[in-house]
Amino acid sequence: MKDIYEQFSKIVGSEFVSDQPEERYIYSMDPGTMTPREPDVVVMPNCTEEVRQIMLLANQHRIPVVPLGAGLVLSGLSRALKGGVILDMKRMNRILEINEMSRYAVVEAGASQGMLQAYLKKHHPKLKHSAPDAPPVATIAGNVSIHGSGHISHAHGFHSDMLNGLEVVLPTGEVVRIGSCATSDYWFARAPLPDLAGLFLGWAGTTGVMTKLAIKLYPNHRFNDVGVFVCEDPELVPDILYRMTATQMAEDITAWMTPKPDWAHGFLHCNINYGADTKEELTWKRNLIRASVKEYIDQKIAGFMPLPPAMKQPFLEVPSRTLSRFADVRKGGGFEYVGAIMPVDLFADGYRAGLEIAEKYAVSYSLGARIIGINHCMMFFFAYAFNRADPADVERAQNALEETNRTVVDMGGIPWKAEVPAQKEIIRKMDPNMFDLMNRIRAVLDPKGIMNPGNWEVD
Ligand SMILES: Cc1cc2nc3c(=O)[nH]c(=O)nc-3n(C[C@H](O)[C@H](O)[C@H](O)COP(=O)(O)OP(=O)(O)OC[C@H]3O[C@@H](n4cnc5c(N)ncnc54)[C@H](O)[C@@H]3O)c2cc1C
Repeated sequence: MKDIYEQFSKIVGSEFVSDQPEERYIYSMDPGTMTPREPDVVVMPNCTEEVRQIMLLANQHRIPVVPLGAGLVLSGLSRALKGGVILDMKRMNRILEINEMSRYAVVEAGASQGMLQAYLKKHHPKLKHSAPDAPPVATIAGNVSIHGSGHISHAHGFHSDMLNGLEVVLPTGEVVRIGSCATSDYWFARAPLPDLAGLFLGWAGTTGVMTKLAIKLYPNHRFNDVGVFVCEDPELVPDILYRMTATQMAEDITAWMTPKPDWAHGFLHCNINYGADTKEELTWKRNLIRASVKEYIDQKIAGFMPLPPAMKQPFLEVPSRTLSRFADVRKGGGFEYVGAIMPVDLFADGYRAGLEIAEKYAVSYSLGARIIGINHCMMFFFAYAFNRADPADVERAQNALEETNRTVVDMGGIPWKAEVPAQKEIIRKMDPNMFDLMNRIRAVLDPKGIMNPGNWEVD
C-alpha cells in the first residue's frame, strides 16, 4: 500500500492524499445510523484526468474505490465497506457553463447545491435549479446519482429526470460522454441517442465516477408564496393531492405530519409552494389551487391555515431546515429517514405504518411526502431522530428504520437511496432477471468489482 500511496500522491499532489488515522476516522461515517467503516486512504482529485489515472491504478491493483460528494446521503452509501479509497470529489467544484437560452448548467461533479444556487443568484437571477432540502454542501452529482428530488419536483420530476448529460470515468479508466455532449458541444438533452445515463443512476456509485454533468435550469419567479392545507383524515390526502396537482399551478407540494410543535399534532398538512412573475399571476394561481379543493372547504373537513408572514418564511426557504431542526442537529441530535418511493394511493397506509413503528420503538418521528410529478408518485419520508451520544437510542432508530424498510417493500413501495440492509430487502422482492441483468452490466463495466463494493450485492 505504501508504494500505491506514493503513486496516488504523484497523481493528485501529496497534500491531497491521506492515510492518517484522523482523516480515515472522519471519512468512515456519514451522519446517519450506519456503523463506521474506515477507508485505507482518502484521495482528492482536481480534474477528470486525475480521476482517470486513479481508476487505472485502482483497477490494476484491485483496490476498492468509493466516490464521495458531501457524504450526506444518511444511509451510509459512501462508506468504504471493503476498505480501499474514498475518492473525495469536492475539489472538482467548478461551474463550467450556464446556457441561459437553453436553460442548463454544466458543472463538475464536486460542485455543491449551494454553490450553484449562489452563482445563479449572482449571474443569472432569472434561472434556478431544483435544490433538495439537504444542507447546501451536498453535491449536485451525489444527489442526481441517487434519483434525489427537490423543491420543484412536483413540476419537473426526480432530479435524475432533469439530467441532460454526463461525463463518467469507468472503473477501467475510459472517459465516456453520455447524452448530446457525446456528439455536440451543447449539453442540451439525453435524447435522441440511446439513453446510457441509466447505467449510472440509482447504482450508489457502483458503476463509475461522474466527473461532469449538465442539469436543467428553470425560471426563477419574482414572487413566491405558500399555502398550507390542513385535514385530519389521512384517507382524504391522495384525493386532495390529486385535485391540487391537476391544476399544475404549484412547483412543490409536500405533505407533512409531526407531533411537534403542539399546534401541528394530529393534523396532516400539505404545503403548496408556487411562484409567479407578477402579483396578478400569483393571485390567479392561488385562486385556482383553492378552487380545486373548494368541496373540502365547503364541507368544513379541511381548509387553508391562516399564515402570518413570519410563519410563511420558513416554508419558503430553499433548502428547508425543518428536518434538521426536528432532529436538533445543533445540539448533537441526528436523524435518518427511509424515503420510500411509492404511489400516492399508499399515503394513508404509509402514515399509519409510520405512526405504529415510531410508537413501537419509542422514537421521535416526522412523517411526510414530497410529490414527484403530477401525482405520479411520492417520496414518503419516515424520519426518526436519535441522540448520537446514546448508543441505545441510535440502535432504536436503526431498528425502526429496518422495520420501515421491510414494511415499505411489502406495501409495494421501494426504499430510495437504500442502505445495505434495505438493498437486500429490495433484491428479495426484485424480479430475479432484473437483478441478474444488473450483475451482468456491473461485470462488463467493472470486471474486477472495485466500485463501491458491498452495495447491490447478496452475500
Ligand atoms: C437535512 C437533510 C435533508 C435532506 N433533504 C433531501 C431532499 O430534499 N432531497 C433529496 O434528494 N435528498 C435529501 N437529503 C439526502 C442527501 O443529503 C442528498 O440526497 C444529497 O444531495 C446527497 O448528496 P451528497 O453529495 O451528500 O452525496 P454522497 O452522500 O456523497 O453520495 C451519495 C451516493 O452517490 C455516490 N456518488 C457521489 N458522488 C459521485 C460521483 N461523482 N460519481 C458517482 N457516484 C457518486 C456515492 O458513492 C453514494 O453512493 C437530505 C439530507 C439531509 C441531511
